[in-house]
Amino acid sequence: MPLMMLAMKMFNGHLAAVFVGWFVVMFAIAFYAAIARCPSCGNYFHLQGMTLLFLRKCLHCQLHVSADKRL
Ligand SMILES: [Zn+2]
Repeated sequence: MPLMMLAMKMFNGHLAAVFVGWFVVMFAIAFYAAIARCPSCGNYFHLQGMTLLFLRKCLHCQLHVSADKRL
């Protein structure tokens, strides 16, 4: 069944494209979050040395992530 093989090949290609797109989006979000700076102490919000931690507060001064939204 050549048509079935073609369909499978297209489906696999589509899945790969979705996976790559998803990976790029996740990487962009992680990168954007990693370079976000704390408005209080000026350090990287989620970076401490080489460790990337996604907590709801600053790793350096413990400022909560929503603190700057009250302004
Ligand atoms: Zn801070």
